[in-house]
Amino acid sequence: MKLLTAIVPCYNEEQAIPFFYDEMERVIKTFQEKYRDVEFEFLFIDDGSSDGTMEALRSLREKDKRVRYVSFSRNFGKEAAMYAGLEKSRGDYVVIMDADLQDPPSLLPDMYAAICDEGYDSAATRRVTRKGEPPIRSFFARMFYRLINRISRTEIVDGARDYRIMTRQMVNAILSIKEYNRFTKGIYGWVGFRTKWLEYENVERVAGETKWSFWKLFLYALDGIVAYSTTPLSIATFSGLVLSMLSVAAILFIIVRKLVWGDPTNGWPSLVCIMLFIGGLQLFSIGIVGQYLAKTYLETKNRPIYISREEINETDYTDSVSE
Ligand code: UDP
Ligand code: MG
Repeated sequence: MKLLTAIVPCYNEEQAIPFFYDEMERVIKTFQEKYRDVEFEFLFIDDGSSDGTMEALRSLREKDKRVRYVSFSRNFGKEAAMYAGLEKSRGDYVVIMDADLQDPPSLLPDMYAAICDEGYDSAATRRVTRKGEPPIRSFFARMFYRLINRISRTEIVDGARDYRIMTRQMVNAILSIKEYNRFTKGIYGWVGFRTKWLEYENVERVAGETKWSFWKLFLYALDGIVAYSTTPLSIATFSGLVLSMLSVAAILFIIVRKLVWGDPTNGWPSLVCIMLFIGGLQLFSIGIVGQYLAKTYLETKNRPIYISREEINETDYTDSVSE
């Protein structure tokens, strides 16, 4: 028998959880007709929800002993939730999926086939459309992927979801990365392994609301850039160098002009513009350095990635399978 752990990060998902569970039950039935030697366990991570998520999880646990959960002491973010899930998972295979059914469970058999029958280490999904998403968000998302893939050596796939099935070996590789500033899309690329990509059209969330504001996504994108590229630091250095060379040229020009034509050195408006420009550039460069320093600072504090307040760790998947 093989065990497949489904990790589900939940932040205020009381409305979505029942839909998710029902859909999963349906999919698991057909799944197990095809792969009789696979058992499932659910591992819900309550990321400090303030609504009825915990009640929903407790009642699921009541009726289905394949359900486990970990509840955080506060909201630590989806990255922390995914890490906790991987850490607590026991499956030979692990799949991470959203609670809002935007990661269609119906893809599970195909994803499993990729690692079980086709010899891949992982099967990942990417959205080929962004239907139903605000256009401005799609635009910035696309810009982000273009930028980061140009300046980083780790490949980060456009439209990649966190929805992915992995072997235990790959899970252990990911867990060996203990960094505090986690950017999972980059971590997947960094650990390598053979990955099969499955594509699907975007699905809108079944209930509740998205937890990602534009600002939160922007900060997440910055995290990704700082974590997977040092190019901004080089840009700061390079622009400093170019500006110093320009200023030497400008000084020579002014001296020569004064000697040849004896001009009065007027023109304070241009001077102010140049000062503002250079001042701005300096602040910008210091800001870039600051970003990296801040990340280093947080990293050296060595804090835990999450803190759990309540956990259910035993599962009993055997009876629900044998019935
Ligand atoms: N999520 C989480 N912690 C957070 C934000 C989100 O665990 O701080 C979970 C959320 O419950 C959902 C998944 O991450 O299962 C994806 O979030 P959401 O659907 O809001 O993002 P979107 O699909 O809009 O990008
Ligand atoms: Mg969603």
